[in-house]
Amino acid sequence: MESQKEHFDPLAECLAIIALSHHREFSKESILSGLPLINGCLTPSVFARAAKKIGFSSKMANRQFEAINPNLLPAVLLLADKQCCVLNKLNLTDNTAEIIFPDLPNSSQVIPLTELTGRYAGQLIYCRPEFQFDKRAPIIRNLKERHWFWSVIKDNRRLYRDVVIAALVINLLAVAMPLYVMNIYDRVVPNHATDTLWVLSVGILLALLADLALRLMRSWFVDLAASRADVQLSSTIMEKVMGMKLINRPDSTGSFTSNVQSFESIRSFTGSLTVVTLVDLPFVLLFITIIALISWPLIIPIILGGAFIIFYALMAQQKMKSLSEASMRASAMRNSTLVESISNIENVKSFNAENHIQSVWEKATIFISRTGAKMRFLSATITNTSMFVQHAVSIVIMVVGVYLLIDGQMTQGGLIGAYMLSSRAIAPISQVAGLLSQYHNAATAMKSLDEIMTRPTENESKNNQISRPVLKGDIEFRQVNFKYPAAETLALSGVNFKIKAGEHVAILGKNGSGKSTLERLILGLYDPESGAVLIDGIDSRQLNPTELRRNIGYVPQDISLFFGTLKENIITAHPQANDDEILKAAELAGILPFANKHPAGFNMQVGESGKLLSGGQRQSIAIARALINQPSILLLDEPSGALDHSSEEVLKQKLAQYSVGKTMIIVTHRSSLLTLAERIIVIDAGKIVADGPKEMVLDALRQGRVGSAN
Ligand code: ADP
Ligand code: MG
Repeated sequence: MESQKEHFDPLAECLAIIALSHHREFSKESILSGLPLINGCLTPSVFARAAKKIGFSSKMANRQFEAINPNLLPAVLLLADKQCCVLNKLNLTDNTAEIIFPDLPNSSQVIPLTELTGRYAGQLIYCRPEFQFDKRAPIIRNLKERHWFWSVIKDNRRLYRDVVIAALVINLLAVAMPLYVMNIYDRVVPNHATDTLWVLSVGILLALLADLALRLMRSWFVDLAASRADVQLSSTIMEKVMGMKLINRPDSTGSFTSNVQSFESIRSFTGSLTVVTLVDLPFVLLFITIIALISWPLIIPIILGGAFIIFYALMAQQKMKSLSEASMRASAMRNSTLVESISNIENVKSFNAENHIQSVWEKATIFISRTGAKMRFLSATITNTSMFVQHAVSIVIMVVGVYLLIDGQMTQGGLIGAYMLSSRAIAPISQVAGLLSQYHNAATAMKSLDEIMTRPTENESKNNQISRPVLKGDIEFRQVNFKYPAAETLALSGVNFKIKAGEHVAILGKNGSGKSTLERLILGLYDPESGAVLIDGIDSRQLNPTELRRNIGYVPQDISLFFGTLKENIITAHPQANDDEILKAAELAGILPFANKHPAGFNMQVGESGKLLSGGQRQSIAIARALINQPSILLLDEPSGALDHSSEEVLKQKLAQYSVGKTMIIVTHRSSLLTLAERIIVIDAGKIVADGPKEMVLDALRQGRVGSAN
């Protein structure tokens, strides 16, 4: 296609060249689909994600020529002005490099390094194929796919390591204060040793300063790790949601979005405080050991108190779990009510459904607030009980300590030191107990997200996809059976037909007979349950869905536009379209009459889902959107359903010219559009009941010779 040649993506081309040099073929659409491209081009920061999609691992590195590892070539060299090239070989003895420029993918050239130095800024991307197991290799659990969540946390393990080291030192420093106080009481006060006092005080002050610095560093690192993980996880989740197969589509938008958003509670759990608390836990042992060194009987109340706190927190867990699950389900339900009613507010009002919705909302809210209150109370009992236990332990230590002191087994300083250390020893335990009470919120959210993340996506289930950037337009259904996941009966059964490229076919049938379903199968939105849909003789399951859909101009029956301008909506499928192409598509679809009248012209806002426009205007835009990239296949689902007669007439004439040489399948109830077709397929209850040249089928229909499926 002309317009696609104009649009050149150097980094994607470089990736293609490297893949080819490793004898890996792939479809360019498949690597780019679902990535945040800038001006339709790959950027270095998303290169790794694109490479990963075709089984390559890549790493960006700052290397001067001398430091480049020749064993890792070919690699992508990033040049000035957002250009790049593939470095095949590097010869440092005679200072030459063998490179391939992306615009000349088939010819490598050897050039002196001096020619490159001016343009090469010192950054390159190493890109190597990951080892691929075939079916013979036994599956070992560890080699299974990376977990979406834990793998990201693992990627940040260096940061967490620093956090652990900081925590280690902080906890060691924590011993300093009690020891300081203990020595003041035992050595300084009895001897009036002011020199020692000053030395100790300066020492402890330095320790406290170090402690402050480390604490600040620790919070910085924890936040850094959390925000990095956050960005990565959010994009993984969104990629998954966008790539999800329609067959796995969740039943309710509102409850699905609320599940996706529950990621928040995982984040707040794994974020800041949590990690720190867990790291502190082992140091309980250190504090207890030091107390034991001062006087061993004092550790008994600490151990008993700590055990009680943990025991109580674990007891409360079961209740917490069921409460948080119930609350999560109820919030999902409430969210669906909200989403459904707001997006349908016009219908809600027209049919007086406000009361019903209000009562569903209120019931759910009451339930959520009750469960929330119960959960908060339960976790309050945990934190407050542990606080009480902490103080009680201190009192017991004081009592026991005083007896030991009278007995001469302990000094005054030892008592104060043990008292201070005991509260430090209990604190992490009660923090963990508090954490346990939050744990179930995160765990429930994790479970529902896990469920989303393990659903197959369109791209990953098709790892043997063939690249067919341009399709001719042959369409064949072979014994296709199809059933919607929620449905009881087949929506299509035993459908067989063959449409040659360039043929124009009308599909007729009663409501609910399966006409729209047929088009959804051609688009690859759903896969047949049995049988096959072949496009250009290739099973559609082997075609990359993005590539397939680029070749199809589809006007759906229910039209929904995207928030934005008229122009943005026309170019959705083809963001690089130039003004000429846009105008042409707009003219074909009959947009010009109302776009020209509007003060903002093509920049007029269409509103969310196109709500600011009339049904007919929306339909015209949908037609322009389908025609913009000159697809070889047109699937029109009642394209004139919302158009008036004169607009329909204009559309008919324009389509008659436009569709020459293109495959066109048009579902319609308007007899006037039948002039566009040479062949008619009649379908009833998911079965084809007539298929043939237009006149013959029309005659048969008139004479009532076309039966129904049952
Ligand atoms: P039409 O010929 O009117 O376009 P459709 O192809 O839309 O009919 O629908 C065919 C059958 O499939 C209908 O019985 C309908 O109830 C059912 N159906 C359509 N879409 C879905 C869906 N998303 N989930 C479940 N069943 C569906
Ligand atoms: Mg339909």
